[in-house]
Amino acid sequence: MQLIWFRTDLRVHDNTALAAACAQGPTLAVWLVSPAQWHQHDDAPCKVDFWLRNVAALSEQLAAKHIPLLVRTVDTWDKAPQALLKLCQEHTISTVHCNEEYGVNESRRDVAVQQALDKEGIAFSSYLDGLLFKPGSILTKTGNYFQVFSQFRKVCYERLHQSVPAVVRAPSAQAPLHVARDEVPSHVQGFPTPSPQLQALWPAGEDEAKRRLDHFVDEPIEYYNTERDIPSRPGTSQLSAYLAAGVVSPRQCLHVAMTHNRGEFDSGNVGAVTWINELLWREFYKHILVGYPRVSMHRAFRSETEALAWRHAPKELEAWQRGRTGIPIIDAAMRQLLETGWMHNRLRMVVAMFLTKNLLIDWREGERFFMRHLIDGDLAANNGGWQWSASTGTDAAPYFRIFNPHSQSSRFDEHGVFLKQWLPELADLNSKEIHNPASAGGLFGPAGYPQPIVDLGKSRERALTAFKNLPQRQVSGGHHG
Ligand SMILES: Cc1cc2nc3c(=O)[nH]c(=O)nc-3n(C[C@H](O)[C@H](O)[C@H](O)COP(=O)(O)OP(=O)(O)OC[C@H]3O[C@@H](n4cnc5c(N)ncnc54)[C@H](O)[C@@H]3O)c2cc1C
Repeated sequence: MQLIWFRTDLRVHDNTALAAACAQGPTLAVWLVSPAQWHQHDDAPCKVDFWLRNVAALSEQLAAKHIPLLVRTVDTWDKAPQALLKLCQEHTISTVHCNEEYGVNESRRDVAVQQALDKEGIAFSSYLDGLLFKPGSILTKTGNYFQVFSQFRKVCYERLHQSVPAVVRAPSAQAPLHVARDEVPSHVQGFPTPSPQLQALWPAGEDEAKRRLDHFVDEPIEYYNTERDIPSRPGTSQLSAYLAAGVVSPRQCLHVAMTHNRGEFDSGNVGAVTWINELLWREFYKHILVGYPRVSMHRAFRSETEALAWRHAPKELEAWQRGRTGIPIIDAAMRQLLETGWMHNRLRMVVAMFLTKNLLIDWREGERFFMRHLIDGDLAANNGGWQWSASTGTDAAPYFRIFNPHSQSSRFDEHGVFLKQWLPELADLNSKEIHNPASAGGLFGPAGYPQPIVDLGKSRERALTAFKNLPQRQVSGGHHG
């Protein structure tokens, strides 16, 4: 008997490990509930709820193929080898199949599982599945991981010109096994169930992911290169939660986008090319995670930035977290995060720069808060985004190019549509004042909306000084930007 161990690959279509297991014989499936591990990783309650709902949907789909899904609880991953070994022995499993996961803890877990199984003569096979390219397969001429996205992408393009990774067929139904599937819990202690409104924004299941993908490539993709920066419009795919949980694969996304773009990925429709470019950013940050494991251990990519004199300012941090900074674009964005589990990409950059530059608060505070609230929370992308914004990472924003939140607001939300959606207390302000209510004069400012907690000009200077005083950079490799 074969065992497929599901992790962040919660789908039956285009699932490499599932297809491989079924090709070898009768297959059983398992998924592990790991509450203490999830806490340690700051996984958001809404993300855990999204996993549970997707695992329940997956269990139904598997049942239709007579593949029973078992659920086991191991509080932390160091208990995974024992639990899986026991299950293998109970069901005389010959091979455990799974799709690779990246990150230090994930890799250590898999090595430990493999060793435990090996001792008992059980095979362990892992497969490339959640990425288009295996980490370590896209390297510089001298054999190092790329630190610059455009150079990384150039090699990705070369590879895609040679061959585009194929989509794997879903397995057909097997003969019924006499094993009962387990009930998938609807709730795990320590992770409160999110509001029904939040849940309704993110329906579970492969059909929903496919519907989003089809809808997106049907039209929005054409205008993606311009619409993607306007937070009040649904100009992006909103697939990140589905990609992070593996409810849809990057191969499926690439194929559908290319089909729409006459088979092209680096030419043709600018919207489609730009969108595929984002899939490659996703790829890039996962490769960075593997190539430079320190970023997965809360270390800055550029070690010289570890010396930055970050401010300890708990009140300001809390104002940022709660959307009470008095700077509307920041507050609207943070409220979107708290209520929906998602934030628009442009705003993620704006609020991250504000925290790390204007407030000069350590990017790790922001990274952790995002992780605790994002339904699409992903270590590689989140860390990459934070270190980009804080100018501590690979291919990061140069420290002297600091976004001004007011300018970002009037540029990307010109008429204040997004601001009014999330800050109803500002509804009466005109489209100029709304970006900076303090400019309307304190006495006439909207009731209940805070005064700005920081002077944008002075705090910008403070950040420039802090960065200028850093010792010389210690990371070799291309600076650019
Ligand atoms: C500070 C910060 C934190 C972030 N944290 C996360 C995170 O935890 N999880 C996450 O998936 N993305 C993260 N991102 C990247 C990006 O903001 C989201 O992927 C995007 O907003 C998701 O919306 P979408 O699915 O509509 O994206 P689309 O614009 O439709 O893009 C398609 C897909 O490409 C990938 N993608 C897009 N932009 C990026 C990027 N910059 N880096 C890596 N992958 C990207 C995502 O998987 C996304 O679903 C972060 C960005 C910043 C600046």
